[in-house]
Amino acid sequence: MRFFSFFERSTRAFHHSPTYSKLIVLFTVSGGGLVAYSESKSDNGAYNVVSSQADAKKKKVVVLGTGWAGTSFLKNLNGSLYDVQVVSPRNYFAFTPLLPSVTCGTVEARSIVEPIRKIIKKKTGNIEFCEAECVKIDAANKKVHCRSTLPDGRKEFLVDYDYLVIAMGAQANTFNTPGVPEHCHFLKEVEDAQRIRRSVIDCFEKASLPNLSDEERKKMLHFVIVGGGPTGVEFAAELHDFVCEDLEKLYPDLQDLVKIYLIEAGDQILNMFDKRISSFAVEKFGRDGIDVKTGYQVVSVSDKAITMKVRPSGEITSLPYGMVLWSTGIGTRPVIMDFMKQIGQMNRRVLATDEWLRVLGCDDVYALGDCATIQQRKVMEDISAIFNLADKDKSGTLTIEELQDVIDDICLRYPQVELYLKAKQMRNAVDLLIEYKGKETKEVDIEGFKIALSQVDSQMKNLPATAQVAAQEGAYLAKCFNNMEESEHNPEGPPRIRGSGRHRFRPFRYKHLGQFAPLGGEQTAAQLPGDWISIGHSSQWLWYSVYASKQVSWRTRILVISNWTWRFIFGRDSSGI
Ligand code: FAD
Repeated sequence: MRFFSFFERSTRAFHHSPTYSKLIVLFTVSGGGLVAYSESKSDNGAYNVVSSQADAKKKKVVVLGTGWAGTSFLKNLNGSLYDVQVVSPRNYFAFTPLLPSVTCGTVEARSIVEPIRKIIKKKTGNIEFCEAECVKIDAANKKVHCRSTLPDGRKEFLVDYDYLVIAMGAQANTFNTPGVPEHCHFLKEVEDAQRIRRSVIDCFEKASLPNLSDEERKKMLHFVIVGGGPTGVEFAAELHDFVCEDLEKLYPDLQDLVKIYLIEAGDQILNMFDKRISSFAVEKFGRDGIDVKTGYQVVSVSDKAITMKVRPSGEITSLPYGMVLWSTGIGTRPVIMDFMKQIGQMNRRVLATDEWLRVLGCDDVYALGDCATIQQRKVMEDISAIFNLADKDKSGTLTIEELQDVIDDICLRYPQVELYLKAKQMRNAVDLLIEYKGKETKEVDIEGFKIALSQVDSQMKNLPATAQVAAQEGAYLAKCFNNMEESEHNPEGPPRIRGSGRHRFRPFRYKHLGQFAPLGGEQTAAQLPGDWISIGHSSQWLWYSVYASKQVSWRTRILVISNWTWRFIFGRDSSGI
């Protein structure tokens, strides 16, 4: 049965041991719940609890990437349990939510980065770092091909692993639009933010040169942002503040020539936020003189102008620019694409994992953060198995009591059920049956059960590509790893990750803590859990306190707070360095 085999697979990777010759996953109904446990059996039939080889040699974990996911994994991992090798082309962690602030000098680049070696140094155990990029993953031989990214040391080398954690993030998505890589800025890395800052100042200096026509000056001061998501919107707001609060004082003759455009192909900006927030942002930008163009799709970019198609008329129009920021979402890195081909995921756009963050189609490889997506299991795929498990007396019908006994486990395994109950304002599973059969319902057969749950999978959603998700996944996986090795030395049974659940490892569950959209002028829109919306100056203070508290170290926290204070007192620095 697929339901069983799926759980078999889920338990397998977390019980890895070379001497295990047989893994029995018993999945039964006991005490009213779904129970998963495993035992090992050697070739002669005797059960082993722990492999002695595993005691002698620590397993090697290779972590690719030092972004949100990789760093959160490292911070939460019990380093004394494994030999850990970290490989990343940058030897620091960057606090990406403050990158837009770096583009305009509100915050200094050094204030938002923390050397990864400093983070590692605070950990016990053997954790090594290598400044290199992974160029190929060889899952069949459990090896990673790496290449140093240092100026004189483009050396290639191999790193082998027992467990591989892929946390390589994503790259900017250009949708193959001609001219974008050559002429546009991206905002993914600290260096991008520094380049954007220099480019903004250069535009002002170029426009100040003598013997230019007003048209030429205007063109140089056209700042175009393609993509109305949170990054594009925040950059537009930052740039507007920088121009109004600092640059206009220094370049008074140019102030009437500056124009900021925000181009969005869809119907609204900030479409992942509540409609009230996107409407407020459009109104505020309108008042600020930021030109928001929705329904404009960029078709090409040349060195002088961007060309757009207006929807729905199909009219083609062009806009000369001084600087363009391309911020239209993320795409998969080539090394991940290559890996996906190897493991039979070539028809997908993103690397797929299960809910335990294990890459589908290969063993002992985990992926988290922006480079991967969790492929949630559909209830309807397992509906018969769920019914059979819940139907304890094997009567062929499910009573309300029987359903109530397993509903918590079902919700744990299939989060969409809980979301569906919430969306329909249902208190529990009984309401599901009542909705389908009416108040007098006492029991339901398999066909009725299928109909009652038929809409539940509509609530399945991919998790957003955010730092919040990446950090939570990193912390979750580290806890699994900590418990995985500890449990091998603990014949009493494995410790739970949290709570007193009956599964050995609960599937990953994302907890949304809310999101911010800074809109400039000391105003921020905040959408907090429970659809609580707050827009204005008070949310800006909330934004300051959340982002200060989320800093990775006291050093960066103090630097960021002092940068903000500095800016309040002296304004932003406009030197082109
Ligand atoms: P990253 O943080 O991008 O880290 C990837 C790591 O992999 C890096 O260390 C990189 O050097 C390394 N790497 C790359 N290639 C290789 C290779 N070949 N081999 C080995 N290592 C490699 N999210 C929020 O929740 N809130 C926000 O306010 C927010 N604001 C943002 C603002 C901006 C400007 C940007 C760009 C993103 C923002 N995000 C925000 C999204 C957030 O930054 C990402 O979702 C998050 O960084 C994803 O974490 P990650 O670890 O998957 O990838």
